[in-house]
Amino acid sequence: MKNLWRICRDFHIRLPFNSGIVYTCIKSVSNRIHSIQQTTKIELNNKYIGVSSIMAKILVIEDELKIQQIICAYLVKEGFEVIAASDGAEGLESFKISQPNLMILDLMLPLIPGEQILTTIRQTSDIPVIILSAKKAEEERIFGLNIGADDYLIKPFSPRELVARVNAHLRRMKSNPPAAISFSYNDHLLQIDLAKHQVFLKNNPVNLTPTEFKLLKFLCEAPGQVFNRSQLVEQVQGYNYNGFDRTIDSHIKNLRQKIELNPEAPNFIITVFGLGYKFGGEPDVHEPANP
Ligand code: CA
Repeated sequence: MKNLWRICRDFHIRLPFNSGIVYTCIKSVSNRIHSIQQTTKIELNNKYIGVSSIMAKILVIEDELKIQQIICAYLVKEGFEVIAASDGAEGLESFKISQPNLMILDLMLPLIPGEQILTTIRQTSDIPVIILSAKKAEEERIFGLNIGADDYLIKPFSPRELVARVNAHLRRMKSNPPAAISFSYNDHLLQIDLAKHQVFLKNNPVNLTPTEFKLLKFLCEAPGQVFNRSQLVEQVQGYNYNGFDRTIDSHIKNLRQKIELNPEAPNFIITVFGLGYKFGGEPDVHEPANP
């Protein structure tokens, strides 16, 4: 038991104070060691095949080791740098340390569930996240996309399709880099920092959900342009789903409550009757730097 505590400390695994679930802890330690071995092997493979440091970095959070190994092998073969994590706590830690370009995320994970990981990382990051899960009900898929996933694959899956989707998301990210890092509107009434995922109203931080932030970001990046509901659903959910468009109205309503001084007479999220919505903020002119 003493050794177990020491190993857990060395591998940053939090142990619950309940001896009855020591087996779970031992399994977690074993998975962690295996994962580190896997990561080392992947890094060595990367060097062997001459992958340069500019290749995209993919974080795979998956507790089923066979599936993790298959995903990693396919990604390494494709030339990506791969980091593997076998539980939720390790996954979040790896995310903070490695700053990946894309994440593949299982939902049913030990220690921290995938849904909580996604919600946490969306507070600071908009990297593409592909959920890979045995949860296949429509409500579960919609929930995953609503809390900030860009894609959803159901197990069992085709590794080749997963790699193709990884490539598609990275291509999309590359062709749509953020045009600016921060925006300020209406005499600094509303400020949006895209890099930090922060929004301020009258200099006070505003707490937006991942969907609300995506919606605001998309609208303010094309000021004055009118988007219909389907276009907005496609942007914030990553796909179009017939009959689902009206949920955009509730996201818009919630967003207005948070960023408008008067949600009944909005300055920023403007309704264009019969068509959709547009962004109506007046951008602040940047002060020239002192000579
Ligand atoms: Ca799982």
